[in-house]
Amino acid sequence: MEKLFQQLDQLYPEMVEVFRHLHMHPELSFEEVETPKYIASYHTALGHEVRTGVGGRGVVAKLKGAKPGPTIALRADFDALPIQEETDLPHKSKVDGVMHACGHDGHTAELLILAKALNRIQNELEGTIVFIHQHAEEYQPGGAIAMIEDGCLEGVEVIFGTHLWANAHVGEIGFRSGPAMAAADRFHITIQGKGGHGAQPHLTKDSVVIASQVVTNLQQIVARRVDPLESAVVSVGNFVAKNAFNVIADSVELTGTARTFKEDVRYLVEAEIERIVKGACLSADADYKYKFVRGYPACVNHPEETEFVAEIAESVPGVTNVYETAPQMGGEDFSYYLQHVKGTFFFTGAGDPEWEETYPHHHPKFKVNEKAMLVAAKTLGKAVIEYARKQSQVPVER
Ligand code: MN
Repeated sequence: MEKLFQQLDQLYPEMVEVFRHLHMHPELSFEEVETPKYIASYHTALGHEVRTGVGGRGVVAKLKGAKPGPTIALRADFDALPIQEETDLPHKSKVDGVMHACGHDGHTAELLILAKALNRIQNELEGTIVFIHQHAEEYQPGGAIAMIEDGCLEGVEVIFGTHLWANAHVGEIGFRSGPAMAAADRFHITIQGKGGHGAQPHLTKDSVVIASQVVTNLQQIVARRVDPLESAVVSVGNFVAKNAFNVIADSVELTGTARTFKEDVRYLVEAEIERIVKGACLSADADYKYKFVRGYPACVNHPEETEFVAEIAESVPGVTNVYETAPQMGGEDFSYYLQHVKGTFFFTGAGDPEWEETYPHHHPKFKVNEKAMLVAAKTLGKAVIEYARKQSQVPVER
């Protein structure tokens, strides 16, 4: 392992350079052109087998170790966000209205440099490493599904991935076995009543009153339908009834978000929302339309692989604290890979205690401590090597 860590330390200045280059040239989800080109040529220069246009704009590169062993995938996403950067960094985004505000530039730099470091110790490597560079994580349906359909997981036994996490400090690594990030779904409800004069409510079917009942009754789902030991969120974020003060609205549009960690709870929430809407409309003799739009499913980490990486992370240089993180309500399309192969997705602290203020992901002033990339690369690199070693150990017969 020492050799890998040495290589990574040596290559750290290049990692920073790659990161800053990517940070200056962000590209939006499903519009990535230069980033995948850059990634592909980096791997090509290393002599790796490279496939571009995977599932659209993804890049998959392979490094075969000199010795036989398992096929292990590492994934990094590379898209940016429609945000105008407001940091004062010298390597600030050069693209108007587009910014790497989630750290995906760091994920890419981490993985490219790790690929180079692993390449340099190829004659000692066991198995095959598949580098999955994914486009479009930020925008549904995301790039993961299409890349999987296009075969990026072919032959892959296990997958590891990490997210740079500004909410934790450099040196801290958070793991979570089981559901780690929520399914993030959207719902749209139209309450169709009958509009009319505000002074003649008896001649109308007041959609504002009906929709208000719906919003109130939706709270029953989490309070009274979901098992108290499970968790869910049902929030109406938008309530639109456009009318004059003395006009009863003909219809109301409601939109909201539902967050869950388990598929059965997800189905329950989807069905219960409709039951409540239906009930309110039935009692008021109104009509409705209902659409539940599924986003990314919950990101469910496999217990054994999570424990394995958490354990090897303890002795990675630069790691000061390995902790169990609480489940995050945000969504992540790494979830799709975990539906196909075992693996884990963890959080690499990228905040800095010296900073006066830490800005959240997707904020115009978001930034990461670059040292976090080195910690992430070492942890992923060690996971790959140790995992292959573990698999090749012949079980002792008793
Ligand atoms: Mn992200």
